[in-house]
Formats: sequence, structure tokens, C-alpha cells
Amino acid sequence: MSRLQGKNVLITGASSGIGEACARHFAQAGSNLFLAARRQDRLDALKQELEAKYPSIKILTHVLDVRVKANVNAAIDFFGDIDVLVNNAGLVIGLDKLEDITEEAMDTMIDTNVKGLVYVTQAVIPGMRARNKGHVINIGSVAGQQAYGNGSIYCATKAAVASVTRALMHETVDTAIRVSEINPGLVETEFSVIRFRGDKDKADSVYKGLVPLNGDDIAETVIFVAGRPDHVNIAEMLVFPTNQAAATTVYRKP
Ligand code: NDP
Repeated sequence: MSRLQGKNVLITGASSGIGEACARHFAQAGSNLFLAARRQDRLDALKQELEAKYPSIKILTHVLDVRVKANVNAAIDFFGDIDVLVNNAGLVIGLDKLEDITEEAMDTMIDTNVKGLVYVTQAVIPGMRARNKGHVINIGSVAGQQAYGNGSIYCATKAAVASVTRALMHETVDTAIRVSEINPGLVETEFSVIRFRGDKDKADSVYKGLVPLNGDDIAETVIFVAGRPDHVNIAEMLVFPTNQAAATTVYRKP
């Protein structure tokens, strides 16, 4: 029997890409799904599909903008006890030099990737502490490990995710709560389409000449990390395409 069977798993940003793939993999493992994102139609379609395929699991959805703390708290109250939190909601806006980044783009990235992740974690951790069990899995990025030109604020948000994750690991060391960070790079999802404000050709050009990762590749790592025995905590994973040119462009050791 899968260790994930019957676990209550909250996935933020479950309407697309990595989050959606995580939902499919946790459903296959027999977990109950709590799915959150802003696009209700996407969540409804995913719920319908997975309920038909896995009738024994419970699936709840909640429209949620993680930037709004009150809504985050309401969503967590609605879902109830959470065993595994996958903090995945996130985005990048633009590929601009620091001096050209608009205040709006900067606020959107910081409010979603950092403050939103913190709001969700703050709402979930007290229950995990009370039950002395749970697993927080944060989706960081290669960009949080090594900054790249024209990505300053996005890289800064993901570096913040790494710091928050590490601090939380220390703060929960006297509990049975596990804290993990998965840092992907170059995953072909809607990420680049959002980055280039809907310009699909520009988004496609990011992955030209390489075999990018896909949502399933990262979901498989999330499932692996979540599925270890309770005494095993995988603290960190760095995952990017095998293609060396791509890897060295994105990730250069200092
Ligand atoms: P997608 O654009 O495909 O998915 C992003 C998800 O985040 C969507 O479900 C979106 O849902 C959700 N989201 C965005 N803003 C909010 C918000 N304010 N409130 C709630 N949900 C929100 O991209 P990915 O799947 O690639 O991205 C998932 C995570 O992976 C992000 O944190 C990203 O930074 C990270 N990542 C991605 C990489 C890549 O190459 N793709 C590389 C490294 C990290 P909705 O719009 O419905 O709200």
C-alpha cells in the first residue's frame, strides 16, 4: 500500500503545470486532494476528471489568490487537516533589467512567491504542530540558488523561498514535521507564457534546442519526497534538464 494513501494533500497552483501534475500523481497514490488556484474552471475540470478515475479519494477545490491572507485562512479552514502541503503557486513576470522592472511586476512576484507561500504556511503549520505530523514541500527554483541577468526579482523571491524553507526546518526540528524544498529549472509549463505576457512564440523559444522538463518530471520528485518513511526528510533537490548547455546557462556554480 502506498504511504501516501489516505493522506490529505493541499496543492497550491493546482490549475496548471507542476501543480496540476502533482494532483494527478497524488491521486494515483490514493491521496485526498485539496486543490487551490485562482481559475475555478481549471480546478473543476481536474476534479471531475480525477474523481471519475479514482472514485475512492476525496477531492475538494477552493478558489484562492494566495496574495490575500484572509482568503488563505478561509481556504485552510475549509479544507481541514492537512498532511502534506505543496507550496507550488508562483510566477515570473517579464525578463527585464533591474531598472526596467515595473513596481506592479515586482509586487506581483513578491506577493505571490514569497508572501503568499508564507501566508499558506502560517495557516497550515499550527495544525501540523498540534498533530505533531505533516510535511511542507516548497517549490523553489534553480533561480533561487543562482541569480541570472534580467531575472533579479524572480531570483530574489526564490532565494527567499530557500531561506524560509531552511528557517522552517530549524523551527520544526523538535517536531515530527518534515520540511523540503524542490528546486526545478526549465520546466515547460505555462510559466514562460505568463512571463512573456501571453507571447507563445517567445515562450517556446526558451526551450529551443533542448529537451525541457515537464510537470510530470517534477511531480515524480514531489511524490518521491512525500512518500519516504516518516523518519526520512529529503531537505533539498535540484532538478534540471540533462542537456548540458541548458544546465550551464541557468545554473553556474559560483
Ligand atoms: P504554471 O504557470 O503552469 O503554474 C503556476 C500555477 O500557480 C498556476 O496553477 C496558477 O494558477 C498558480 N498561481 C499563480 N499566481 C497565483 C496566485 N496569486 N494565487 C494562487 N495561485 C496562483 O507554472 P509552473 O507549473 O511552471 O510553476 C509552478 C511553480 O514552479 C512556481 O512556483 C514556479 O516559480 C516554479 N518553477 C517553475 C519552473 C519552470 O521552469 N516552469 C522552474 C522553477 C520553478 P491560477 O493562475 O489559476 O491562479
